[in-house]
Amino acid sequence: MKLAEALNRSRAILAQNAIEDAPLEAELLLRHVLNINRTQLYLDLEHELSPQDEKTFRALVERRLGGEPTAYITRHREFYGLDFYVNPHTLIPRPESELLVETALRLAQDRPSTIADIGTGCGAIAVSLALELPGAKIYAIDISAAALEVAAINCQRHSVADRVSLLQGDMLKPVAEPIDLIIANLPYVRESELTPNNFEPLIALDGGAGGTESIARLCRQARSKLAEGGSMLLEIGQGQSEAITGLLDSLFPDGAIEILADLSGIERVISLSLSEIKVAR
Ligand code: GLN
Repeated sequence: MKLAEALNRSRAILAQNAIEDAPLEAELLLRHVLNINRTQLYLDLEHELSPQDEKTFRALVERRLGGEPTAYITRHREFYGLDFYVNPHTLIPRPESELLVETALRLAQDRPSTIADIGTGCGAIAVSLALELPGAKIYAIDISAAALEVAAINCQRHSVADRVSLLQGDMLKPVAEPIDLIIANLPYVRESELTPNNFEPLIALDGGAGGTESIARLCRQARSKLAEGGSMLLEIGQGQSEAITGLLDSLFPDGAIEILADLSGIERVISLSLSEIKVAR
């Protein structure tokens, strides 16, 4: 069978089984079997697929049909134009989380800063920021030791291990110094909405009964850790902006709050900025 035919067949099978991005996913799986990049795949479309590779490819497509995400099968995921190693100990980075990175860059560009990425997972956010902000000091914190091992691999892969400090612990507790920019994609899925067939770690998704428990806890911790003039960026789930902005309002009465929508128009990031000089009250 030619590569083109294998690709087309698997695209059709994935699409028939309601895999959202079937054309791309089939391509990623085939490239993984052959260990080739995109350009090479398209140059080789008329080449024959060996029977052994065909068998391996079929098995991977089967796994995908069983619900396993392509990123876990291939152990790769692209985020912010960079290639990250992922495994089932971390959430698979989502394109909408790039909004956190873009917003952080807008805020941090003007001055060297201390940044903390809370719930770093595979380290996608911390590594992306480290590459864009060579002057920044970055803490990447996670409660999961297994996730931090993945983040360490990505720091090495992108040569930022000397500027990203990986810390295990409960959100901001492992850092003592004031932080200029706190950035977090914490678990925010409502307990009742967690799907039983989830391949991703529950600890990275489960936001408690209301979905906002972890985010709320970080907001409270930030009170003693966010530097004067500092900012905090929180990724949130659909419909959670009111609860979180209400909480931030009460915790940081002088803070300026902004809500940013993702490319689908869903309120996705809440930005809190403290003023430089504390107003006497
Ligand atoms: N966006 C993810 C999802 O909908 C949730 C990520 C998270 O809880 N931080 O599956």
